[in-house]
Amino acid sequence: MTSDAPETKSLNFIEEIMEADLASGKHGGRIQTRFPPEPNGYLHIGHAKAICIDFGMAARFGGKCNLRMDDTNPCTEDVEYVDSIQEDVRWLGFDWAGEYYASDYFPLLYDYAEYLIQQGKAYVCDLNEAEIREYRGNFHTPGRPSPYRDRSASENLDLFRRMRAGEFPDGSRVLRAKIDVQHPNMNLRDPLMYRIRRAHHHRTGDAWCIYPMYDYAHGVSDALETITHSICTLEFEDHRPLYDWFLEQDVDARFFQRPLPRQIEFARLNLTHTVMSKRRLLQLVQEGIVAGWDDPRMPTICGLRRRGYTPEAIRSFAERVGVAKRDMVAEVGLLESCIREDLEANALRRMAVIRPLKLTITNMAEAEAFEVELANHPDRPELGTRKVPFSNTLWIEQDDFREEAPKKWFRLAPGAEVRLRGAALVRCEEVVKDAAGNVVELRCTWDPASKGGNAPDGRKVKGTLHWVNAATAVEAEVRLYEPLFPAEDPMDVPEGQDWHQGINPGSLERVKAKLEPSLAGAEVGQRFQFERMGYFAVDPDSRPGAPVFNRTVSLKDSWAKIEAKG
Ligand code: ATP
Ligand code: MG
Repeated sequence: MTSDAPETKSLNFIEEIMEADLASGKHGGRIQTRFPPEPNGYLHIGHAKAICIDFGMAARFGGKCNLRMDDTNPCTEDVEYVDSIQEDVRWLGFDWAGEYYASDYFPLLYDYAEYLIQQGKAYVCDLNEAEIREYRGNFHTPGRPSPYRDRSASENLDLFRRMRAGEFPDGSRVLRAKIDVQHPNMNLRDPLMYRIRRAHHHRTGDAWCIYPMYDYAHGVSDALETITHSICTLEFEDHRPLYDWFLEQDVDARFFQRPLPRQIEFARLNLTHTVMSKRRLLQLVQEGIVAGWDDPRMPTICGLRRRGYTPEAIRSFAERVGVAKRDMVAEVGLLESCIREDLEANALRRMAVIRPLKLTITNMAEAEAFEVELANHPDRPELGTRKVPFSNTLWIEQDDFREEAPKKWFRLAPGAEVRLRGAALVRCEEVVKDAAGNVVELRCTWDPASKGGNAPDGRKVKGTLHWVNAATAVEAEVRLYEPLFPAEDPMDVPEGQDWHQGINPGSLERVKAKLEPSLAGAEVGQRFQFERMGYFAVDPDSRPGAPVFNRTVSLKDSWAKIEAKG
């Protein structure tokens, strides 16, 4: 991946560190990063930010980036997630130098743990979870040493080997680092390194009944892979001393190449109107609130892809939010403007009527039907044109007609004249209603001299509407989306309420739309601008003759703006 950012762009703090390390020759001129997802869910837009940093910075400095599955917790992980993560990283436009699994390091992690035991730096502790917590104290209370803290190295080694051999029940013992039970940083109060858990692992099967803890496994994995800069999110800032401690205990450099990797933290990306933790996203899926991880309302990469986002738009968003040292919340509107900008430049224009209202031209004979040739993109002639049939029976948008026309209303109203894009000027002569009083048809007349869309007398007609010819219309399901969470911060709920209560029950609306015939053969994933209605992408639920479109994002609605101003 090359960044198209100009070279003069000022460096962010991570780039500054890397540049200084390159200048000093710290790692012999090497930059090596990794993206380390835990395969316990699908990647979301926050991960995309991390991916752009991890891969982007390595690329910027001619380095490498590995993909490492942080698969040390067998209970929540699955190959389904591994596969989706790889697909999503590739789709975003990145390729990893090496594919690694923390589980591949289980033997080395085990060996290093034995080494730490032999150095008197780790011990087997028989306290249970609650006791450990109690002994550890809290921010105000210093911890107390575990009664097992002073076991001899040989006793610890024997117990640890028997833990591994499966001699003890789950949860009966743990291996802990021997650091400082009174340390002001709680993470250093003899943290856990291993626990006993008889769980089937998606890669190592039943080979292990002890599994390493994240803080231990992560830094060791980095060091074994000779990562130079281990970039992670801010919540690990307090863990950095522990990250360093584990690696520094390799006093005779038997396990790790020097210099050791350096952990650097940046602020996690949050988005307004969005929940962004895999755990909660999993809940949305499991509770059937959304149709799956790739539901177009999800902030997952696969959800955004299905919604119609492009990798370019997501990368551009990541670039624009920047790399911060303090937590921040980006506007979901910024993400939307990134995709709007991309599709504005690249999506083919089409006409589609989302909420159809019949329009008949009473003074046009069937035989007078004709075709209009419309540009696929107003600014890009190289994208060509297509022919669109026009006749006396058409569909227009319900929203483009008002029986009582407000001021500055340039669309259709009784007696008003509008342009049907590229085709003709029509005037509304009669409004037909059903028994319930709903408008069901507009009877219009056309000015045959306006064929092509303009009157020869040059009279001014301000409003231009899109339309679809009824006889050749393609019927499609169109899915319109509103945010799943109307509240800016979905987690900011009143006392005693659960975040579920903030879910918008009307976040998905399905409508039966009428499309111009050229959309009949649209393929899954293709993106279009439906003129005046927004950008739409073909959904995988499409079947031959029954296409389904997702609205990716609306256009900026000029009338809504006028109305808002009053
Ligand atoms: P979540 O809290 O959403 O479940 P996680 O941090 O547990 O995410 P991991 O699979 O551990 O998910 O994350 C892989 C990498 O992506 C880590 O380096 C993590 O710091 C980064 N990452 C995760 N969420 C975000 C985010 N919102 N913004 C930026 N980076 C993120
Ligand atoms: Mg995590």
